[in-house]
Amino acid sequence: MAIWNPWHGCKKYSSGCQNCYVYRRDSQFGKDSSIVTKTADFGLPLKKNRSGEYKLTEKDNPVYTCMTSDFFIDEADAWRDEIWEMIFCRPELHFVIITKRALRIEQCLPVNWGEGYENVTLVCTCENQSEADKRLPVFLSLPALHKEITHEPMLSKIDISSYLASGQISRVICGGESGSGARICDYDWILDTRRQCIEAGVSFYFKQTGAKFRKDGRVYNIERKYQHSQADKAGINYEPDRISEVLQRLSRSDFRAMFHLNKTERLYIEEKGLDTIRSHAEYFIDKRLAPAVILNDGKQTPMRGHPVFIAQHACACCCRGCLEKWHNIEKGHTLTGSEKEYIINVLMSWIEIQLNFKEKTEE
Ligand code: SF4
Ligand SMILES: [Zn+2]
Repeated sequence: MAIWNPWHGCKKYSSGCQNCYVYRRDSQFGKDSSIVTKTADFGLPLKKNRSGEYKLTEKDNPVYTCMTSDFFIDEADAWRDEIWEMIFCRPELHFVIITKRALRIEQCLPVNWGEGYENVTLVCTCENQSEADKRLPVFLSLPALHKEITHEPMLSKIDISSYLASGQISRVICGGESGSGARICDYDWILDTRRQCIEAGVSFYFKQTGAKFRKDGRVYNIERKYQHSQADKAGINYEPDRISEVLQRLSRSDFRAMFHLNKTERLYIEEKGLDTIRSHAEYFIDKRLAPAVILNDGKQTPMRGHPVFIAQHACACCCRGCLEKWHNIEKGHTLTGSEKEYIINVLMSWIEIQLNFKEKTEE
């Protein structure tokens, strides 16, 4: 990941800007954040090192663009065309542009934008319901090949289900507010957005808790250094594309495709319900797969006895070796909350596919 700030400084625009980190950081140096100026990094994508190679290469992707300003701020109108040209000249880099000014995007697009540049993701920030309802209809009406929504800082429960139903949004990111004057972010709002994403089949990412995080009615003050790791620990991220891609790959393996749920296992799931099966899966993964060191690694998952075991073999989530080979989750570390959540989602998706398959073949 790289950060490219072609200009610095911004004007506060809506309630989400109240505790803007650019203002907070600049004030420590007595700098006026409301003055927008070009930076020394203006031409970064075209800069080369001494050996004549580009400084930014594919391994720096994604390139977060304009993180100490807003890309579509009017003060930068005269400079933006040059920036678009640089973005166009570097198709191997992927630029992520996060903005609150969705209403200004259309007038700021380059002439050759067409349906959008393949190497640009536009992200619309909406901190509450009224901003979402102002910005998202406009955002959806724009041409762009990659669109995401972020609720950062998330200041209320936000219903975006009708916007997700458009099929245009590939991911939603949620997070709280940082800094000493931070406003509360409630876990229920986050979970509600996650539910909307799952229902719409859209990726969901809980990025950070913010400094004041409310869970079950209790407000926790979370130090900055823990705000990302605490969100990760919640293990609630959801990646439907990654899951369907891996399930497809697995179905092409003769060995993995050999595994099916038999009648007893299906009856067991019916009797217990999917929520209970999920909690069993959580328990098995926690005990047998999550530790950094597993003495019997490779042999810890029985071949029968529980539908989750069968799912683990079918999905290559049976041991850390298979996890590394099939899912790119390296051995030798304790599985993180998001990694565990991903594995459980893979297993439960496989189980659900098996159950539907049976229903279909019985019809
Ligand atoms: S738009 Fe972003 S950078 Fe600009 S003031 Fe608001 S929070 Fe800060
Ligand atoms: Zn294995």
